Amino acid sequence: MKDFARAFYRSASWQKCRESFLASKMWLCERCKAQAATIAHHKIYLTPANINDPTITLNWNNLEALCQDCHNREHSDKMRRGPYRVAADGSILPPMS
Ligand SMILES: [Zn+2]
Ligand SMILES: [Zn+2]
Repeated sequence: MKDFARAFYRSASWQKCRESFLASKMWLCERCKAQAATIAHHKIYLTPANINDPTITLNWNNLEALCQDCHNREHSDKMRRGPYRVAADGSILPPMS
């Protein structure tokens, strides 16, 4: 975990957000639908610039319920392909390949 995000991940507001979000997905991974989701992944990755912006950090639209395997895959793919891009209207576009 990155240093700048440590305080955020420890915060009560994130713990609450993560739990209610994962509960809303029935604690099931949104990708493989096979394993229990243990991670609320941020589609727009957290950065020092957005870590204090709750419209990014605590926004369900920016979260995805993932199991450990799918989460690992997400992040190792992203290393190769680069981050998601955000369109002018705020929607999320896949990385350029
Ligand atoms: Zn999965
Ligand atoms: Zn993630």
